Amino acid sequence: MTYATASKTQAYLAEVDQFSAHNYHPLPVVLERGEGVWVWDVDGNRYLDMLSAYSALNQGHRHPAILDAARKQLDTLTLTSRAFHNDQMGPFLRELCEATGFERALPMNTGAEAVETSIKMVRKWGYKVKGVEADKAEIIVCENNFHGRTTTIVGFSSEPQYKDGFGPFTPGFKEIPYGDAAALKAAITPNTVGFLVESLQGEGGVVVPPAGFMAKARKLCTENRVALIADEIQTGLGRTGRLFCYEWDGIRPDILIVGKALGGGVYPVSAAIADSEYMDVFHPGDHGSTFGGNPLGAAIARAALRVILEEELPARAARLGEWFMERLRAISSPHVQEVRGKGLMIGVVIKESSGPARPFCVALEHKGLLAKETHHQVIRFAPPLTITEEELEVALEIVADVLGA
Ligand SMILES: *Cc1c(COP(=O)(O)O)cnc(C)c1O
Repeated sequence: MTYATASKTQAYLAEVDQFSAHNYHPLPVVLERGEGVWVWDVDGNRYLDMLSAYSALNQGHRHPAILDAARKQLDTLTLTSRAFHNDQMGPFLRELCEATGFERALPMNTGAEAVETSIKMVRKWGYKVKGVEADKAEIIVCENNFHGRTTTIVGFSSEPQYKDGFGPFTPGFKEIPYGDAAALKAAITPNTVGFLVESLQGEGGVVVPPAGFMAKARKLCTENRVALIADEIQTGLGRTGRLFCYEWDGIRPDILIVGKALGGGVYPVSAAIADSEYMDVFHPGDHGSTFGGNPLGAAIARAALRVILEEELPARAARLGEWFMERLRAISSPHVQEVRGKGLMIGVVIKESSGPARPFCVALEHKGLLAKETHHQVIRFAPPLTITEEELEVALEIVADVLGA
């Protein structure tokens, strides 16, 4: 079965080409409906969604419990701003703290805003608590990182395209190779206030660090009074087979950043989470967001979090991910160099000699499976965590068909 690109799709593609900024290169599929792990395009073709909006759809499309919470809140109160309190934000932050084991949380909207929040938090902590001299704070980051698209964040990216034409950049960031504990140790100075890291790099190509790296980073940060900041925007909320990916190393960061699936695929909700030692450096007026903590987002995030916990999606991702990765490795293919990942965050690395990953993603799309390349050579498979074994069998058949040829 192969889907033909029909006329309705072509008309939408022409329209978006004319009126949209050309800052993305999407697959040529125009979606109009979604349910669970399935989506339908404007020409009536059905696809298995193996990207889940970069893990913002861990609970699947239009999860009924999340939609119910959204509808109920739409009918009562949607926005207050932080000039007033609302009856959803407090319960949301309490439930988020209880689920993560931290004392306080600061709600924002997008992931990049929560990363920015953590940067401001750890710098101020450095000056007010650790005693770093004014404007001398250093934050260590990793090569091949992805933390978002603001000017400060792209300033410490190692991807030339993310920075090209956007300088000058915010100073105060130092880069080390990902997964290199010795380099981290060497990079720490008395002015180091934070180490910002993904427990597993997502956009960087589903890169799993050497075993024990996060535990070593935890130890170095503790010894040197450096805040360990875990960006779990993509790896968090069950994706890698634990509620948070750092749990694989048996550690706890000082600051935890969440986003994406916290909004249940419905509404953007993010947060920076920490104990009061860090969070209490913020005083009224220091930081804010018009929409952060709004009652609609808070009600949706409460439901999104409940679904992750009650449906035990982390354990499901661990079980299905291990099985799926094993089956992917068993596909005999002249194109595959490596299959890697954790839980249901899986990268299939295409050999350089077979060309880039993109044409394979287009071929998968034509057979009814949506996945997206990342970093040229990697096909990422990250379906909703609600996916069933039968649905993964459908995926395997298509993948074998495309990669086996
Ligand atoms: C997606 C992502 C971000 C940025 O989130 P936005 O909501 O797109 O701003 C930051 N860090 C990681 C690890 C991500 O995957």
